[in-house]
Amino acid sequence: MRVLGIETTCDETAAAVVSDRLGAEGGDILSNEVLSQIAQHAVYGGVVPEIAARAHIDVLDRLIVRALANAKVELSDIDAIAAAAGPGLIGGVLIGLTAAKGLALATGKPFIAVNHLEAHALTARLTDPLDFPYVALLVSGGHTQLVAIRDVGDYRRLGSTIDDAAGEAFDKVAKMLGLPYPGGPQIEKLAQEGDARRFDFPRPMLGRGGADFSLSGLKTAVRQEVLKLGTPNDQDVKDIAASFQAAIVDVIVDRVRGGIKLFTEGEGRPSGLVIGGGVAANGAIRRALTRLCAESGLRFVSPPPVLCSDNGAIIAWAGLERFKRGFRDDLGFAPRPRWPLDAIASGAHHGKA
Ligand code: ATP
Ligand code: MG
Ligand code: FE
Repeated sequence: MRVLGIETTCDETAAAVVSDRLGAEGGDILSNEVLSQIAQHAVYGGVVPEIAARAHIDVLDRLIVRALANAKVELSDIDAIAAAAGPGLIGGVLIGLTAAKGLALATGKPFIAVNHLEAHALTARLTDPLDFPYVALLVSGGHTQLVAIRDVGDYRRLGSTIDDAAGEAFDKVAKMLGLPYPGGPQIEKLAQEGDARRFDFPRPMLGRGGADFSLSGLKTAVRQEVLKLGTPNDQDVKDIAASFQAAIVDVIVDRVRGGIKLFTEGEGRPSGLVIGGGVAANGAIRRALTRLCAESGLRFVSPPPVLCSDNGAIIAWAGLERFKRGFRDDLGFAPRPRWPLDAIASGAHHGKA
């Protein structure tokens, strides 16, 4: 079974073809075309919605053609067409969704609307044989949450940020330090040469019950330190990067511990912990979560960084998982700029055929 997946919710235009494996778990990525718009947004220090939408229109059709060609398939070989229908920027979502619906209409193939967060959460099953239920940590520029993944379409939010998303915190701290957007990779690189103990930044919510995050206090503490330094020199910048990253790693580990506890109380032992979202590319976070899982005897599944950030293969895979369970969507399915994951009660958000 092969599914074409389209992703346009933020600043990556992406199309991919993914297939399942006969009689085996996991899937194969036949093609995964991603065009990042980072260069177009970097001058503004963040994603500009209008620019994003126009850039998606410019390249999406060619990207779909390329995804089919590189997968060595024709449109007629595709079993279903999936697109991320949200959450995300309305202009971008509309473009990917409309393209997918158009292809579905023209070919008579089934159309599947995918929740972008659901796609991040299900990616671990594309790369690894992982059974439900498990805990997913989704950390990106727009989202930071812990979710119980009970089954395809059956999700319960364990906790989420009450202010900034993790990627947003990385990006804002980078901006304060005069580093280019996106800030996460820059901070990670500089942190390697910095002293993580030089600045004792706060670890908000540490030890608190539940699994909610709060990151704006940490960001503010960094801003005050930067102001105190006046013009930070190269070593100051590295030390701030290292101290900030150490703080956010501590917060994430503590909150994940809380999420696993909530999960265990509610539904027993999870089969593992998975991560997704652009921030999941961070090596310090991966290492800390690897340790946490080893201590708790839990399996840790971290898809390769290219599959953690936004791409079409994760949408195609989530579409394939939904398709196999009998989910189909109407061509009238409207874009959902806001679309919390736990609103996807089994079959409730969009119909079983
Ligand atoms: P969405 O939230 O809808 O998934 P997004 O575009 O914000 O959209 P991604 O593209 O998945 O999300 O992730 C981008 C974010 O990840 C940025 O905030 C970026 O700074 C952060 N990021 C990328 N690499 C790293 C890294 N190595 N360390 C920390 N943060 C990183
Ligand atoms: Mg992005
Ligand atoms: Fe994403």
